[in-house]
Amino acid sequence: MTDDLFPATLVSHDALAKARRDSLSNQLVRLGDMLGDGLGDEPGGEWIGREYRAVAKALGLLPKRRRDVSGINSRVANALERLPCPGCGGILQQTRSGALRAKCPACATTYQLSSQRKDPHA
Ligand SMILES: [Zn+2]
Repeated sequence: MTDDLFPATLVSHDALAKARRDSLSNQLVRLGDMLGDGLGDEPGGEWIGREYRAVAKALGLLPKRRRDVSGINSRVANALERLPCPGCGGILQQTRSGALRAKCPACATTYQLSSQRKDPHA
């Protein structure tokens, strides 16, 4: 153990991260070539597409999964058609696009709509 160990560790960590990125990039290119050659469509080649997506994801190349705003809006719109304001019977309005909250303009009460999303992993 020497005093030099700590800074050396920091440097090598950066180098490691870069090496990992480079290696992932190379892997992505190689897998992309294989997919381009049609290997992913051959029997037993499914792993190539799977690996390609995994590597692309590790590199942050895949778009982050966004909330499905239009799905939320239509679900909220459907719900509000059948749900008058519990307080005054007025017509509720979604507070803003993508929100699961509704406001009654008549009595200025805000309601939280419960999400009815079914989680396939549950
Ligand atoms: Zn109301």
